[in-house]
Order: sequence, then C-alpha cells, then structure tokens
Amino acid sequence: MASRLLGETARRITPYVPGEQPRDRRYTKLNTNESPFPPSPMVEQALREYAHADLRLYPDPDVRELSADMGRYYGLPPEMVFAGGGSDEVLGYAFLAFSSPGDPVYFPDITYGFYQVYADLFGLESRTLPLADNFTVSTEDYYSLPGNVFLANPNAPTGIALSPEQLEPIIKSNPDRLVVIDEAYVDFAPGMSCIPLTRRYDNLLVVQTFSKSRALAGMRLGFGFGHPDLIEGLNRIKYSFNPYNIDRVSMAVGRAAIEDSTYFTLCRDKIIATREQTADALADMGFEVLPSQANFLFARHAKVGGAVLYQALREQGILVRHFEKPRIRDFLRITIGTDEEMGRLTAALEQRLREE
Ligand SMILES: *Cc1c(COP(=O)(O)O)cnc(C)c1O
Repeated sequence: MASRLLGETARRITPYVPGEQPRDRRYTKLNTNESPFPPSPMVEQALREYAHADLRLYPDPDVRELSADMGRYYGLPPEMVFAGGGSDEVLGYAFLAFSSPGDPVYFPDITYGFYQVYADLFGLESRTLPLADNFTVSTEDYYSLPGNVFLANPNAPTGIALSPEQLEPIIKSNPDRLVVIDEAYVDFAPGMSCIPLTRRYDNLLVVQTFSKSRALAGMRLGFGFGHPDLIEGLNRIKYSFNPYNIDRVSMAVGRAAIEDSTYFTLCRDKIIATREQTADALADMGFEVLPSQANFLFARHAKVGGAVLYQALREQGILVRHFEKPRIRDFLRITIGTDEEMGRLTAALEQRLREE
C-alpha cells in the first residue's frame, strides 16, 4: 500500500515495470533482451583476478581508465565519454541536465518506456509523436522542435533502425536542443551508429549499454558519447547525486569486455544469424515480423492475439514480452536466444496455432 508519507512526486508517478525475472520455475527467458551467451572469458578472468582488498577503497569518480578505453574503441577522446550505472542512469542524467520546466520532451508513442517515466519523475511535459503505420519513426516530425528529443535507434520494442543519414536532419534542425539517440541495440545493426556524428554536432548525445550485446546486464554499465560540454553537463548531475556511480569491479569487467572484440563479434554475428532464421520461421507460420535490427523480434499473428499467444507460451515455460498498449497489443516481443531456445519457441507456437 502507498504510504501516507509519500511526497507529491512519488504519489504522482507510475514507475517503470521491468520484464519479469520469475523464480517459480525454470523458463526459457526471451523477455528482457539479455544475451543468451555468457560474457567474454576475459571478463571471467578479470573477476577471478580482481584484488578484493581494493574494495575497501572508493572507485575513481572520474572513471578515467574505462572511459579512455571506451573512447579509444570509437576513436573519441575520453572527454567525450560518460560512464553510467547502466544506460538508464545516463538517460536519467540527460533528462535532468538539459531540460527546463516548460520545455516539453519529445519521443515516439511507441518506444522505450523509461522516457515517459523520467519525464514524469522530473516534472517535465512530454509530447509523444506517433510512429507511422509501418511502425517507423517519421523523422520529419522531429525537425525544429521546441524541446529536447529522445529516440531509441534501433527503436524498442519494434527493432526498426534508421540510418545516421536519416537521423542527421533531426540533429541539424534542432541546434539548440539536445537530441539523444539511445543505441542500446545498435551493435546488432552494423553501420547504424550515430557516434561518428558526435564529432560534428555539439547537441547530440549517443547512449549505449553493455547490458545487451556485451552480455553484462547483471553488471550495470552504460555510456554516453558527445561533445565535452555535454559530458560536463552530465557530470554536474552525477556529482550532485552519485559521484562514485561506477564500482571498482564494474570498471575492471568493463575494460575486459571492451578488449575482447573477437568474442564480441562472434556472439553478435550468431545472434544476428539466429534472428534472421527465426524471423523466417515466424513468417512461415503467418506472423507479420517487423524488420528488426536488434536482438529481438516484434511480431503479430494474423489470427491469434498477443495476449493469447503470450499466455500459451508461458504455460509451455517460455517467457516473451507482451505490452497491453494501444497499437501493439497483438504483438509479441521475442528476445533472440540460442538456436535451441528459438527451436523451443517456434515449436510451442506451431503447437498453439494448430489448435486454432
Ligand atoms: C535495455 C535498454 C536500456 C537500458 O539498459 P541498461 O541495462 O540500463 O543499460 C536503455 N534503452 C533501451 C532502448 C533499452 O532497451
């Protein structure tokens, strides 16, 4: 029950609802876009070799080494890199640092749920702009707006990506607004990252995470990339809220993960190949599958609704994500797992559809 002591803000907000992490039985978990593969063996080694006695000391509040590694990976100086405890923290700081009361925040009607939650938490007005009928972002809608813009690319939960060439006019036409491109899934969309544009536009913040493509959702590591003045803005918030936001173990693990590009590429390519196979299998069963460039598929069946299929899969021990929301309630969001897991998924769906 809500405490009678709740303040006005806490009373007003609707918190984000994470995907289930159930404990009642073993599920095939295809509901939170985690990696089906373990993190790099170099991560395991970094953990094994971590000198635990160092944990008595505070971590480096400037996160220098990890930021330098991450910058080097993308050819950016460390002053253009911000490290956060998951990309959610980076996004939250971006809302706080660059918004003013009265200026609305713009994002699509169908996108990552946290944008709405942050806007509400920080008392900001939000304006949602509808995706086109084919569920792509209508880029012209975002030109020259009187407020900051938050776009996930590839978008969630559709998986549809826009190219940097398609996004650039949004960044260019809003020179005095912050444009955030949330690239949580961009590693599964080769060539689609806007990071190269951060060198040319001082109003662009690109946000990425190690939770999906780096198989480190349990570690909480995310990054922001942008002009040094934008990074300074994020640091203003961080140093007013949680200066030691990245712990020592996460720093060591993050550095090891960046180093192992071979393992990273192997896992990513495997997930992309499995995604394409699964999309074909679903299409053969009568699903409309949106053209995903992420590590999940968003699909609806011509005859059977999303809630029914979600429940049928759940009873078979397979968890996917279903959103009881306008426009998308007939869709399932299915994380790409191993080939074996996807085999279980398609078999369970075939079985349920045969009952129709
Ligand atoms: C998963 C996700 C995030 C947040 O990931 P973290 O685990 O907080 O790094 C951010 N944006 C989108 C679109 C996501 O799907």
